[in-house]
Amino acid sequence: MPLMTRRGMLQTLSAGALVSVTPLAFANNAQITAARIWPSDLYTRMTLEASAAVPFKYFVLDNPRRLVVDMQGVSINEVMKSVPSKVLARDPYINQIRVGQFDQSTVRIVVDLKRNISPQVFSLLPVAEYKHRLVIDLFPAGQGSAPAVQAEEEDALMALLNDYSKGKVSKDGSTTVTAQTTIPKPEEARPKATPQNKSNINRKVVVVIDPGHGGEDPGAIGPNGLKEKNVVLAISRDLKKKLDAAGYKTHMTRNQDVFIPLGVRVATARKLQADLFISVHADAFTSPSARGTGVYALSTSGATSAQAKFLADSQNAADLIGGVKKVGNANVDRAILDMTQTATVRDSLVLGRHVLNALGNINKLHKGQVDQAGFAVLKAPDIPSILVETAFISNPEEERLLAGTAFRGKVADAISAGVKRYFAGGAVLAQR
Ligand SMILES: [Zn+2]
Repeated sequence: MPLMTRRGMLQTLSAGALVSVTPLAFANNAQITAARIWPSDLYTRMTLEASAAVPFKYFVLDNPRRLVVDMQGVSINEVMKSVPSKVLARDPYINQIRVGQFDQSTVRIVVDLKRNISPQVFSLLPVAEYKHRLVIDLFPAGQGSAPAVQAEEEDALMALLNDYSKGKVSKDGSTTVTAQTTIPKPEEARPKATPQNKSNINRKVVVVIDPGHGGEDPGAIGPNGLKEKNVVLAISRDLKKKLDAAGYKTHMTRNQDVFIPLGVRVATARKLQADLFISVHADAFTSPSARGTGVYALSTSGATSAQAKFLADSQNAADLIGGVKKVGNANVDRAILDMTQTATVRDSLVLGRHVLNALGNINKLHKGQVDQAGFAVLKAPDIPSILVETAFISNPEEERLLAGTAFRGKVADAISAGVKRYFAGGAVLAQR
């Protein structure tokens, strides 16, 4: 059943009504093999991993407010019994969880809620090392009901996540509501940022920093267990401090251990009218000897190397791993978009070279030039965007570097230096 239909039904039916969803592949003897809960201010996600697809029903009840999910064709086991103990006191949405065998073939999960939520329950097919997954996302319900203290940028992100869950955000970060008006014409898109340009006076340069992965998606994992999602968040926070100190206005696409879809990351940058977008990652390869720092830009016409294509494919898989229910189809003018994007990619390469040069002072470079491929997260048509692979987390020596604050600080310094040189070199600012 399509998402909108199901949501619409959920909203129109009275509390207690059953919403039934039957996956195509029905399996009777699914084993629940893992359960994870990812609390965040933005939304809380529960993931139940199973050996086969699990048909489910869910509904919301009041007094007290609770979400009930019935998993069919499964029996309670140790993994399911462990679910209540995985709820953290700091979870903004979940008060407690109860699990029981409802009837012979149904396990019932009752999620007692701290506040009104808008649930998204869906299945994900196996990918990489993940099996079939049942995902339960708890978004805050309604406007103005967000958790107590919320930063401005979290409000924007929350709104985008909400739009995204309704299929209103496309992969290039455009939204169905504003796509027609937010795509600049190529000739006026990128005027020179000079002191004479009145439109840019009194406006700080906006840099969006994008720590890769998060939540259910750990990114690459080093031989000693270091997780990419944690490393890149630490480096991104450091980079933010350094760019703030240098007078830039910065925003982070995530500042917690939370999964944010790629399209929402791009949409965040567009909504904030960013001048630059910098995605921070750590590389991995099957051979532990692969090493070095790399910088990547978008290619609209195929990858510049097989390695860059492999990397883009693996990074784009984030949405499959982290879980995305639906991607909207924005109605945009492709021709204008492509022309704008060509100019933007040119600027991205200039930015990338400055950052790569600076990074070359602190670590061996994987390659001497900025490589290009179809990275989904670099697809904002009007914002110069680069992806920095800080080092190879799969290389034991570089994993040790990435684990330490000294190297992280150097990476943040180098990226910051590259950004400064980019603007010092008469880079262009988008007209607002
Ligand atoms: Zn990554």
